[in-house]
Amino acid sequence: MPHKALSNSSVPQKIKIPAIQHAVKVVQTRLASFCASQTPVDDTHVEILFKEIKLSVEKIKRQIHDKGLTRERLTTGDSNAYRWLNFLCIRENLTNHIASLSAVTQQAFVLTSPPHSLPGSRRPSVSIRFYSTTYLYKATHRQGQVKILINEAFIGAPAALLAGMVYLMLKDRDPKKLAAIRNYARQPAFTQNYESLYSRRSHIKPPGGGHYHLLDIFERVNNQYFDGKIPPPRLGWSSRRSRSKFGHYQMETDTIVVNRALDAPHIPEYVVDFVMYHELLHKQIGVKHQNGRRQVHTIVFRTAEKQFKFYKEALSFIENFIQTS
Ligand SMILES: [Zn+2]
Repeated sequence: MPHKALSNSSVPQKIKIPAIQHAVKVVQTRLASFCASQTPVDDTHVEILFKEIKLSVEKIKRQIHDKGLTRERLTTGDSNAYRWLNFLCIRENLTNHIASLSAVTQQAFVLTSPPHSLPGSRRPSVSIRFYSTTYLYKATHRQGQVKILINEAFIGAPAALLAGMVYLMLKDRDPKKLAAIRNYARQPAFTQNYESLYSRRSHIKPPGGGHYHLLDIFERVNNQYFDGKIPPPRLGWSSRRSRSKFGHYQMETDTIVVNRALDAPHIPEYVVDFVMYHELLHKQIGVKHQNGRRQVHTIVFRTAEKQFKFYKEALSFIENFIQTS
């Protein structure tokens, strides 16, 4: 629920290593050219690419070491990119990546060919990549070109599911296909990939804290405000205490993380309840996309948030907490 993120001057500056983004570009181009042709992918070519990725990861690793840095000092973009490259250093992941990319590329080809396309209309050019992202998938339409980004964690998903995703982006909104995709994103096949691509998630502490148990809080808030109808998300305390960030809902993995600083006897129950309520509203309301921008704290959201019984008290406690801690 970050209202404002406070800057923290004691945190050392993040470092960019150009070789990382360069390596990502090279690998993405190679993968795209593999899957663009209708002929089956040649195993020896995959083997060569696999070795190349491993080699560039080794080089980057040495650069990080030689600069006296650790992964934690990389910018978020570089850190995610480096994780992605490491992810593809697992043979099975690379194989799945190629198979899934081929599947979606072919599906896009089918959907933009006659009779699907309107007669006389130009065939749109579609480019697709799988990459580390917090979106499940995303399509950008610009001047007859469609750029599709699919979360890397979907690699190895059933071809029909991936085909449905491409359909959603190129054709029509289909609630059934959408529900199937969201459901898949909760399964271990997806979440395990997601966790290897994003380190932060794996640092979440179990829901049973020293003072509060998040499962109790979830059940109380769910019963009081949602008629107990919200299916339980994954729950965890953040690994670090934060002065400004009290909770977070990660849609992709259906996880609510609560700031560990709130797991203390001097924190009133209604404050932890409020944070839980806020994050459950995110789970219930979801994300609205407007003009290509992601909106979570919409008017609908803010109105619902005010239904919390101790709304004013909770807000003023939080404001005070930010200023005094
Ligand atoms: Zn929020």
